[in-house]
Amino acid sequence: MNTTHCPNFNHNRPNPSVGFCPSCGNVVNDSIAAKDCSEQAHAGARMHRTRFCVDCGEQLIAS
Ligand SMILES: [Zn+2]
Ligand SMILES: [Zn+2]
Repeated sequence: MNTTHCPNFNHNRPNPSVGFCPSCGNVVNDSIAAKDCSEQAHAGARMHRTRFCVDCGEQLIAS
């Protein structure tokens, strides 16, 4: 069902350095455990216009 291919480069990498895609929030590297992020970390990510947290997959910016 959730197989939409987003254009983010992380999906095409064999070993992405992040666990989650910042554009769609899907897992790109399931060998990286999801983090328990602080609100401060998410606030910083929002300033970089990251839609989804690359550490936990949470949506940061509402569409
Ligand atoms: Zn994606
Ligand atoms: Zn997070």
